[in-house]
Amino acid sequence: MSNSGVSFENTEKAFIAKGNQELKHSLWLFKLMGNPTLVKVFSKLILFAIKIGLPVSLPIKLTIFKQFCGGESIEESKKVVYKLNVSNIGSILDYSVEGKENEIDFCNTKDEILRIIKVAEDNPAIPYTSLKLTGIARLSLLEKLNSKQQLNKEDEIEFQKVKGRLVEICNSASNSTVPIYFDAEESWIQNAIDTLAEEMMEINNKRTAIVLTTLQMYRWDRIEYLKRLIKNARDRNFSIGIKLVRGAYMEKENLRASQFGYKSPIQPSKENTDSDFDKAVDICLENIDIVTLCAGTHNEASTMHLVNKMGELKIPNDHPHVYFSQLYGMSDHITYNLADAGYNVTKYLPYGPVKSVMPYLIRRAEENTGISGQMGRELRLIVEEKNRRQSSKLLSAG
Ligand SMILES: Cc1cc2nc3c(=O)[nH]c(=O)nc-3n(C[C@H](O)[C@H](O)[C@H](O)COP(=O)(O)OP(=O)(O)OC[C@H]3O[C@@H](n4cnc5c(N)ncnc54)[C@H](O)[C@@H]3O)c2cc1C
Repeated sequence: MSNSGVSFENTEKAFIAKGNQELKHSLWLFKLMGNPTLVKVFSKLILFAIKIGLPVSLPIKLTIFKQFCGGESIEESKKVVYKLNVSNIGSILDYSVEGKENEIDFCNTKDEILRIIKVAEDNPAIPYTSLKLTGIARLSLLEKLNSKQQLNKEDEIEFQKVKGRLVEICNSASNSTVPIYFDAEESWIQNAIDTLAEEMMEINNKRTAIVLTTLQMYRWDRIEYLKRLIKNARDRNFSIGIKLVRGAYMEKENLRASQFGYKSPIQPSKENTDSDFDKAVDICLENIDIVTLCAGTHNEASTMHLVNKMGELKIPNDHPHVYFSQLYGMSDHITYNLADAGYNVTKYLPYGPVKSVMPYLIRRAEENTGISGQMGRELRLIVEEKNRRQSSKLLSAG
């Protein structure tokens, strides 16, 4: 329990939005995902089935998709948005289409983000939106930019188109006052993302943070980067938005570093990641006048650290510069208990055609296998709530 009385143990509050059937569905799914071999085999089979055109969308939609996604479109996701809003939880609609590589797809993604911004305008149920740069730009172009390679004439034209899309999205976010998070991705394109995010923050964050960037604290260089960002923002007189996460691509990062023989950007241990995450929280809160912070985490200790630090610094629970965020379908015990205590809380709510969100769903399934420790947590809480409901039924019957 935090100094201010927040606890994540209350499963009644955590699962208040889930009926018995839904709770049973989650229990079944998390039990299945607890088996790493099953997850590995299923992931491969499903990707293969999609590739050869087998009709697997419906069974996926009724199972894992339902747990982690809002729907296939904005319209379909609205039901979840309003359900979350009843418990004072905002939604960050995330058009989760990945791996696209051509101009038509990039323009479609840009148009979809513009549609989210329109839906979110004047709608407190959708306080933010988000953007993955690889959704509107070719990966290999970002790699070239990242390594400061000379762009040829065609690359230059392509880059100007990327910038055009980005400026259009940020202008729309600014005009509608719907802040937008730039997600963090792999380190071999992250410098390019950082440069664009900084440029967009300087242009759009004169009064308030419209553009927010993401820092992955599993990288050992991010505390220094955060300090530079803050100094730069103070020197140049603009606000910054920081979403802090631990980072989703650790295995890929370590593997690439060892393959190409460079020093891995990843911290030497989980403890280092945890410690830098909390340090970054402190730095953001100490600069709350110009920093808007979103703690994107399912880690209870880090969440408690932020809650306690806010208390210590006498920052009100609902301060407009502090947000907590979890992924839809995970860590409801954190989300619902924080919302109940009056903190600003949001869920990242991915949506999109079933086939397109498969990479996202596979990442969630892998994250929830027994290996990561996440699974134990989710399953334990669901079982606890099921038992609580059973015994209270017994009690009221008796
Ligand atoms: C709202 C939200 C938005 C997100 N946005 C992004 C994003 O834009 N980009 C992105 O990359 N991820 C993003 N993520 C995912 C996030 O980075 C983590 O993968 C995920 O949240 C698990 O970390 P955790 O803080 O919840 O907690 P934990 O379960 O405590 O931590 C697990 C994480 O710790 C780190 N870790 C584990 N072992 C080690 C080790 N041996 N050494 C060093 N570090 C280790 C890894 O990052 C791992 O994912 C987001 C998550 C949320 C909730």
